[in-house]
Amino acid sequence: MGNLLEVEDLAVEFDTPQGPLRAVRGVSFEVGEAETLAIVGESGSGKSVTAQTLMGLVPLNARVAGGRVAIEGRDVVGLPEREWRELRGERIAMIFQDPLSALNPSLTVGYQIAEMFRRHRGTRRAEARRKAAELMAQVGIPDAERRLDDHPHRFSGGMRQRVMIAMALALDPRLLIADEPTTALDVTVQAQILRLLRQRQQAQRLGMILISHDLGVVARAADRVAVMYAGRVVETGTVAEVYERPAHPYTLGLMRAVPDPRDIGAELEAIEGQPPDLAAPPAGCSFHPRCPFARDVCRTDDPAPRELGPRRASACHFAEEVSPNAGRG
Ligand code: SF4
Repeated sequence: MGNLLEVEDLAVEFDTPQGPLRAVRGVSFEVGEAETLAIVGESGSGKSVTAQTLMGLVPLNARVAGGRVAIEGRDVVGLPEREWRELRGERIAMIFQDPLSALNPSLTVGYQIAEMFRRHRGTRRAEARRKAAELMAQVGIPDAERRLDDHPHRFSGGMRQRVMIAMALALDPRLLIADEPTTALDVTVQAQILRLLRQRQQAQRLGMILISHDLGVVARAADRVAVMYAGRVVETGTVAEVYERPAHPYTLGLMRAVPDPRDIGAELEAIEGQPPDLAAPPAGCSFHPRCPFARDVCRTDDPAPRELGPRRASACHFAEEVSPNAGRG
């Protein structure tokens, strides 16, 4: 099975008056068909900038400073905006935490979904409307035909997120990025939306990247996890490997900071100290000022990610010590 998405050594920098701020530093991962990779980390860890870069939406004062991103084998870094507009929606789509900011409040949801078909496929008006109703029914919006003519504010938060998912999936993309898709919703609705995403993913064999700071959501929805800290991926593995045998002190801290990281709502918090200033990160391992395992070498040598098993890695000099069984499946 080939990878739908390959990210290799990606670096993204922001220009600031103090000099370049390295928001993403040498990030690598891949996503296969029907697979969900969760990217977890505190705010400022680089997970959202990574997601934006994958959509060709690098912020204006930032640039890709190195590395490779390939969508279905095609290198996409540096593509002109005209080509990105074709890729977005068709090959890779995104849903956000707040659908209201992504939907146009002055247009009916039916119009907005139908517009995807009209703009990208030249579908005629009546047919596009029929397809929009079909999609809305598929994502579980009751009475879809009638609700086509409602504006976004007439929908509850959960129903709006369903509309957003319908729009994202309209053109049958191969990859979906979900950036905190359930954060604004209550726990019951969160579970419904996660179930829906899983169903659609399996039905369409989608590769999915789930950006989240909620360990419970990740445990429910993901197959694999990449933990980000200070612009780096510091640990990767399956959900079971990372949750049960964390092999990086930062991940270990995250797991210990919450009573049961598998509960929805189990947010990342309470590790002592602050993430580093990325305009002036500390020498050596950027986690060393907060790390209970730190030794002299950590203050001078930045650890590269090291393989501990198949698709299992940790960027810690002492990974085996943190979790003696980290490499075992
Ligand atoms: Fe901690 Fe050192 Fe591992 Fe960094 S390399 S996480 S400072 S033990």
